[in-house]
Amino acid sequence: MKIAKPTVPASDDHDHDHHDHGHEHGHAPAASIEAALSMADAYCRERGEKLTPIRRKVLELLLTSGRATKAYSLLDEMRQIHPGSAPPTVYRALDFLLSAGLIHRIESINAFAVCHDLTQCQHGILVVCQQCGNVTELHEPKLRQALVAQIEAAGYRLSGDGIELKGLCAQCQADAAQSGSEAPARHAKAAAAPH
Ligand SMILES: [Zn+2]
Ligand SMILES: [Zn+2]
Repeated sequence: MKIAKPTVPASDDHDHDHHDHGHEHGHAPAASIEAALSMADAYCRERGEKLTPIRRKVLELLLTSGRATKAYSLLDEMRQIHPGSAPPTVYRALDFLLSAGLIHRIESINAFAVCHDLTQCQHGILVVCQQCGNVTELHEPKLRQALVAQIEAAGYRLSGDGIELKGLCAQCQADAAQSGSEAPARHAKAAAAPH
């Protein structure tokens, strides 16, 4: 299934900084998956850690999936490659990738997704399709800082670095509109044209 990427213009007249890499979501071509993997590999080495074959494979599965994926699906896929794979192996690999900031735990659907910003570790705001697990990471450092400042002003400290919003992606909205065409309009309020 093709998923539209967030429309980030290629021009530089943005006030928020963005990077040349790591924005890919959806099905990335094999070459860019390979590139992402070697980037992650170099990043781990810089940190004095190792992207072991199993960690690398789990990351590759997540990159290939292009969306939030449940641990048991990852385990299933691992077992197709290495029949003896045990759950702890996959969980330990996920823990490592989480602590390295390479992936996100998506709490609302209990799944994992690759960070949009593989090695920069500047997490954005995650928007998660509750239907299909498509994840878009909004890279808006100012918006994120403003939000965190408000949260702290209210006396809170976030319990993790993930800020996650629940949603329904464009594809799933289209699917829902198609299958529910006999019950139209009422739910489309948000899409109403301005006058
Ligand atoms: Zn991130
Ligand atoms: Zn969706």
